[in-house]
Amino acid sequence: MAYTPSREDFDRYMVPNYAPQKTIPVRGEGSRLWDQEGREYIDFAGGIAVNSLGHCHPVLVQALKEQADKLWHLSNIYTNEPALKLAKALVERTFADKVYLCSSGGEANEAALKLARRWAHDNYGERKAKIISFRQSFHGRTLFTVSVGGQPKYSQGFGPVPGGIVHAEFNNLDSVRELIDDETCAIIVEPMQGEGGIVPATQEFLEGLRELCDRHNALLVFDEVQSGMGRPGTLFAYMRYGVTPDILTSAKSLGGGFPVGAMLTKEDIAKVLVLGTHGSTYGGNALASAVALAALETIDTPEVLEGVQRRHERFREHLERINAKYGVFREIRGMGLLIGAQMSADYEGRAREILPLAIEEGVMALIAGPDVLRLAPSLVIPEADIDEGMQRLERAIARLVDNA
Ligand SMILES: *Cc1c(COP(=O)(O)O)cnc(C)c1O
Repeated sequence: MAYTPSREDFDRYMVPNYAPQKTIPVRGEGSRLWDQEGREYIDFAGGIAVNSLGHCHPVLVQALKEQADKLWHLSNIYTNEPALKLAKALVERTFADKVYLCSSGGEANEAALKLARRWAHDNYGERKAKIISFRQSFHGRTLFTVSVGGQPKYSQGFGPVPGGIVHAEFNNLDSVRELIDDETCAIIVEPMQGEGGIVPATQEFLEGLRELCDRHNALLVFDEVQSGMGRPGTLFAYMRYGVTPDILTSAKSLGGGFPVGAMLTKEDIAKVLVLGTHGSTYGGNALASAVALAALETIDTPEVLEGVQRRHERFREHLERINAKYGVFREIRGMGLLIGAQMSADYEGRAREILPLAIEEGVMALIAGPDVLRLAPSLVIPEADIDEGMQRLERAIARLVDNA
C-alpha cells in the first residue's frame, strides 16, 4: 500500500522550527494549487517570492527536463555550459562584470559579506572590517547573515556571534552618518525591506548611501534576494532607483522554484576572491543554472516587466476597495509584485490570523512581521486569478472583522 503523508507527520518527523499550515498541496499549475483532497487554491504567496513564473511554467519545466537528460552536477572541479550561460546573461543584463553562483539567498549574502571583508582587508588592511546593516533587515539564516540582519530574535541564543557589525535605522541617513567611518568596509541594504514589512527605501536614502560609501571607500551591497528578478517591474530594484551597488545578491525568484543564488560584482572587487578563498559544492549546479537561465530570459522581457506594473495596480485597487469596506489596513505599499498591507491600529499584531482564514477561502497569502499582510504572486499571474483570489481574500478579511 502506498503511504500518504499527513500534516501530523511533520510534527512526528521534522524538527519543530516551522509551523506549516494544515493543507498539503500536491500539484500546481500557474497560480493555482491543489491539495491532497483536491481542493484548489489561488497562490498569492509564490513560495515566498520564489515562484516568479508560477508553478510548473512550461518553459522552466522544459529547461529542467532537457538538462535532466544531459547532466546534473559536476562540482567546481569542472565548469558547465548552463552555469556559463547564466553568468554571461547576468553580466550582460546588469552592472556586474563577475558572478558567483550558489544555492540560496543566505549563501549569496554570506559570499557578499566575506567578499567585502576580504576586499577591504587586501586593499586597506585588517582594521577596515565594519559592516553597517539596518534594523528590521533580513539577510539569511547562516550565523554571519543573522548577525548582520536587523532582527535580534534570529541570532539570540546562538552566540558567540561574529563581531564588527552595527545597525542603523532604515531610511534614516543621519543614523548611517553617525556610524560610518574609514574603517567601514560595507553597507548592506535591501532596496525594499521584505521580511521587515515590505518597506521600500526612499530615493534619497539609497542615493545617500551610495555617496557615503564612495566618501569612505566602503562597498555598497544590495540584497535583492527578495526585491529582485523582475518583481519590482524592472529586472532589479537598483535599476528602478538608478543607484548602482558594488555587490548585488539574488536568489528566490532567480530560480523560479529551483534552489539557486547569485552574487554579482565588479571585476576590481571580484579579483580578491583568488583561487581557494571561497566556494560551494553545489554552486553553479547544471540543473539549477539551466532553470535560472530560462527564468531570467523569460522574466527580463518588456512583456513580463510591464505586466508586473499593470498587475501591481490591479492588486492595489482590490486592496483599497477591501479597505474602504472594512478599514483593516493603515497603509498599502510595495513595488511591482511585492505588496504589503499594514494592518490598522484595531488589528495590530493580527496579520497572521488572516492566513488560515484565507486558506479556508481558497487563497494563499503571506505576512511580513506581525502587522503586514504580504502578497508575492507569480509575475505572470492571470488577471482573472487576481480578481478571483482577491474575492476570496476579501471573504477571509470579512471573517477576521467578524471575529473581532
Ligand atoms: C529570503 C531572503 C534571504 C535568505 O534567502 P535564503 O534562500 O532563505 O537563504 C536573504 N535576504 C533577503 C532579503 C531575503 O528575503
